[in-house]
Amino acid sequence: MARVTLDRVRKTYPNGFEAVQPTTFEIEDGEFLVLVGPSGCGKSTLLRMIAGLEEITEGTLKIGDRVVNTVDPADRDIAMVFQNYALYPHMTVRRNIAYGLQNRGIAKTEIAAKVDEAARMLNLGDYLDRKPSQLSGGQRQRVAMGRAIVRDPSLFLFDEPLSNLDAKLRNQMRIEIKALQRRLGVTSIYVTHDQVEAMTMADRIIVLNGGVIEQIGTPAEIYHSPASVFVASFMGAPPMNLIEAQFESGAVRLADGTAVMAAPSSRTGQITLGIRPEDVRIGEGETTFDIALVEELGAHRLLHGKVSGQPFTAHVLKESPIEAGVHPITLPGEALALFDPQTGVRL
Ligand code: ATP
Repeated sequence: MARVTLDRVRKTYPNGFEAVQPTTFEIEDGEFLVLVGPSGCGKSTLLRMIAGLEEITEGTLKIGDRVVNTVDPADRDIAMVFQNYALYPHMTVRRNIAYGLQNRGIAKTEIAAKVDEAARMLNLGDYLDRKPSQLSGGQRQRVAMGRAIVRDPSLFLFDEPLSNLDAKLRNQMRIEIKALQRRLGVTSIYVTHDQVEAMTMADRIIVLNGGVIEQIGTPAEIYHSPASVFVASFMGAPPMNLIEAQFESGAVRLADGTAVMAAPSSRTGQITLGIRPEDVRIGEGETTFDIALVEELGAHRLLHGKVSGQPFTAHVLKESPIEAGVHPITLPGEALALFDPQTGVRL
């Protein structure tokens, strides 16, 4: 097991592009950390620097107590699981899983025992003599996991491992990976652009944007207290509603003058208001919600329309009888987040 420490780690590619700006954070021993962000935000670059597949331009990377900036990937005591599984097509499942152990001077009987144990954990026992082409996508992904597990690494690195699977299998595999990680207790870093994977798998999430950390926190912190407009709109499906409002006469007011919360009378100017779709109260209040479309999603319903002339979505349970049309709503003060409209930073 290992703690991982990054101290002002930066990456500038040879063409001068700064993909990761100086970045500092620590991953606790046994923690499951998810790096999430849109395409191009630098998450793979960061993971590849930790793996040793990409040179670190500046800063210090430690795995355990050891500075590993210039340590060969093979000597970092890590195991990586990739999106494309990286299996050897001509080898059986058994040989694929055993492959990383064969040049380490480990006795054949011990290798066989480790492969059997991993296959048992991953429900691959019946497939050990098959080739990867004779497996489903989910089974191939399990083989890739098996290969990582048998090496007993102090750190697992996952690079979008579920991207090639269909939605149902992705849900199933994310539960399996999380359960396995809990059981093994191995420190893990997991890269994804899928905010649902980030929310459901992580002990802590790092949201990256343009090579910069927007926020580090538990899934609950990231969801309920987003540090910026970017995090508020990236995490959550549908995302947090953001509406432009004003500080005026001791209150935060929408464009139609409705006061949604008290504010220090000294404050003036524009403000961006954020509220999660499930925190809206419909049926009473001074603000109005002009609902244009109702989406039925089985257990709940999404109401889409406009508040104060701006796009707005509310989430209600399936029992709610609300239909399209104009309805009074309340935006409860305790559920509102206030952001600086210029910088996007939470106030
Ligand atoms: P994705 O989800 O699409 O894989 P990502 O967040 O993993 O995106 P990276 O692959 O880390 O993003 O890339 C970060 C930025 O660095 C991107 O703008 C990318 O174009 C750029 N980049 C990546 N590799 C190089 C390179 N070898 N030379 C120059 N720029 C690069």
